[in-house]
Amino acid sequence: MQGLMMNTPLLITSLIQFAAQYHSDTPIVTRSTEGPVRRSSYGEIFARAQRLANALIDYGIKPGDRIATVAWNTDRHIELYYAISGIGAICHTVNLRLADEELIYILNHAEDRLVFFDTDMAEIVARVQPHTKSVERFIAMSDAAHQPEVAPADTVDYESFIAAASEHHDWAVFDENTAASMCYTSGTTGDPKGVLYSHRATVLHAMASCYASTLNLRTEDVVLPVVPMFHVNAWGIPYSAPIAGTPLVMPGPKLDGQSLFELMDAEGVTMALGVPTVWMNLLDHMDKLGRKPAALESVVIGGAAASEAIIDRFELDHGVTVNHAWGMTEMSPLGVVNTLKPKFHGLSRDQQMPIKLKQGRAIYGVDMCIVDDDGQELPRDGMTSGRLLVKGPWIVSEYFKAGESALTPDGWFDTGDIATLDADGYMLITDRAKDIIKSGGEWISSVGLENAAVGHPAIKQAAVIGVAHPKWLERPLLVCVPAGDERPDLDEIRSYLAEKVPKLWLPDALEWLDSLPLGATGKVLKADLRDRFAGYTVG
Ligand code: AMP
Repeated sequence: MQGLMMNTPLLITSLIQFAAQYHSDTPIVTRSTEGPVRRSSYGEIFARAQRLANALIDYGIKPGDRIATVAWNTDRHIELYYAISGIGAICHTVNLRLADEELIYILNHAEDRLVFFDTDMAEIVARVQPHTKSVERFIAMSDAAHQPEVAPADTVDYESFIAAASEHHDWAVFDENTAASMCYTSGTTGDPKGVLYSHRATVLHAMASCYASTLNLRTEDVVLPVVPMFHVNAWGIPYSAPIAGTPLVMPGPKLDGQSLFELMDAEGVTMALGVPTVWMNLLDHMDKLGRKPAALESVVIGGAAASEAIIDRFELDHGVTVNHAWGMTEMSPLGVVNTLKPKFHGLSRDQQMPIKLKQGRAIYGVDMCIVDDDGQELPRDGMTSGRLLVKGPWIVSEYFKAGESALTPDGWFDTGDIATLDADGYMLITDRAKDIIKSGGEWISSVGLENAAVGHPAIKQAAVIGVAHPKWLERPLLVCVPAGDERPDLDEIRSYLAEKVPKLWLPDALEWLDSLPLGATGKVLKADLRDRFAGYTVG
C-alpha cells in the first residue's frame, strides 16, 4: 500500500523561495571583486535570480545545458546558482586556480555554452577562449563601468545581460532527479572527472547540513564560507544557509589572513568554514593582533586534516571552537562532522583530543563501512583501518560521460581513503589509499605523522611521503616548511615525535623546503613531492 502524502519534488528553487519569503531582509554581504563591500539580501538575490533566469531563457538556454562559472564567493555567484539550476540547466562551477590546459579540458568536456567569470579572471579566460569548442559567449560578472579591459571578444557585463529581463519568473516544476550543478574532481591522478549533482541530492544534503550535530546553521549566526563556491559548492552553504535564514558574508577574491580578519570583524561573523591552509594565515594574523574577530565563535575545518596544533591555536589561544569535517566532491561533500557526544564532555582536554582529531561523526544520510582489500567488512572498533566505502542519496553513482557505474558491485562508493570507524560513528582518516606508507607488513599513516610533526614549534607545515628502503621497501620521509629560522635536525625531530607516534612511524629522513606544492583546492600535492624526491633512498 502506498502512503498518501504529497509527492512534492525536492527542487533547489524551493530553498531560495523559502528564504525570500521568510528571511527577505536577511543580509548577504559580499566583498566584491571591484573592492568595496556590497550589501544584498535573500529577497534581492531571489529577485535578481528571477531576472537572470529570464535572461538565460531569452538568450536560448535550454534544460540540460551547461553554464560555467569561473568565480569567487559573491552574491552574483549565488544568483547564478539559483537561476541556472532553477530553469533546469546545470551550473558548472570551475576551479579558477587550475592551469590553462585543465580549464580547457574541463570546459570542453562539460560542453559549456556560456561562461560567467569574475573580472580578475579576464586574462585567464581570454587565453583559454580560443581553445574552447562549445562556449558561445563570455559574461563578465560586473557592471558596464567595471568591464575588464582584456576579455574575449563580444564579452557582455552581467548587469547589462540581466537589465532588460523581467523580475518575475514562473519557476518550472520538474523531476527532482534532474541535474542541477556540476563540479570536477581535483584530478590529482588522471583527468578530472565530472560529478553531476541532482536537485534531490542537493536539497537533502542542505537539510542534513543544518542539523545541530552537523553544521548547526542558525538564524542568529553570520556565516562566512572561505571554502570556494567552485570547491563542491562551498560545501553546500549557499543551499543550506537559506533553509536556516542564516546571513552570509561572501569574501570574494581576498582570502589572506588580514583581509579575512577585517571582514569577519566588521561583519560580525560567528562561524566560518575552510581548509587548514587558509586558517593558518588567519591564525597568524590573530596572533599578531592578539585577538580573534570580535564575534567569531567557531570554525569548521575540512578538505585536509586538522592538526592538534591548529585546534589548540584556535581553541586555547583564542577561544574559537573547532569542528573537524570530512567529505569529498563525490559526496556533495559532507560525510562526517565532528561534534562531541555528551558522554565525552566531562573528559579532560587531553582525553578529548584524540576524539577531536577524528574527521567526525556519522550523520544521517551517509552510510559508511570499512573493508579490507578483498572487500570483507572490518570491525568498527576504532582501531582496525581499511578502505572507507560510503552510500547515500547525495553520493555520486556515475561520473559525467563515463558511461559506467562508479560503484562496487554491491552499490558502495570507494572513497579512496583509509580510515577507522568506531561504534559511536566517529571516523578517522589514516590516509589516502595512494599515500599510505607500506613499511614491511605495517602501514604508516602519513596524515598521523604530519599532524604530530606540526606540533613541533619549528615546523609550520609538514608532508610525509614513502621513499625506498632496501629492507622495509618503504620508509617515511618527512618534508617540512620551517616556522622561523630554526631547522632542527632529524634526531631532534625523531625524539620529539617518539612521544607522540608508534616507534615504527619515526621518519628515516628529513628535508626542509620553503613551501609545499599545493593543488587548486589547497591540498598538498604528494605526487609532486614524490616526483621531486624520486630516487631518494634511506637505510
Ligand atoms: P575533494 O574532493 O577535493 O574535496 O577531496 C576529498 C578528499 O580530501 C577526501 O577523500 C580526503 O582524502 C581529503 N579530505 C577531506 N577532508 C579531510 C579531512 N578533514 N581530513 C583529512 N582528509 C580530508
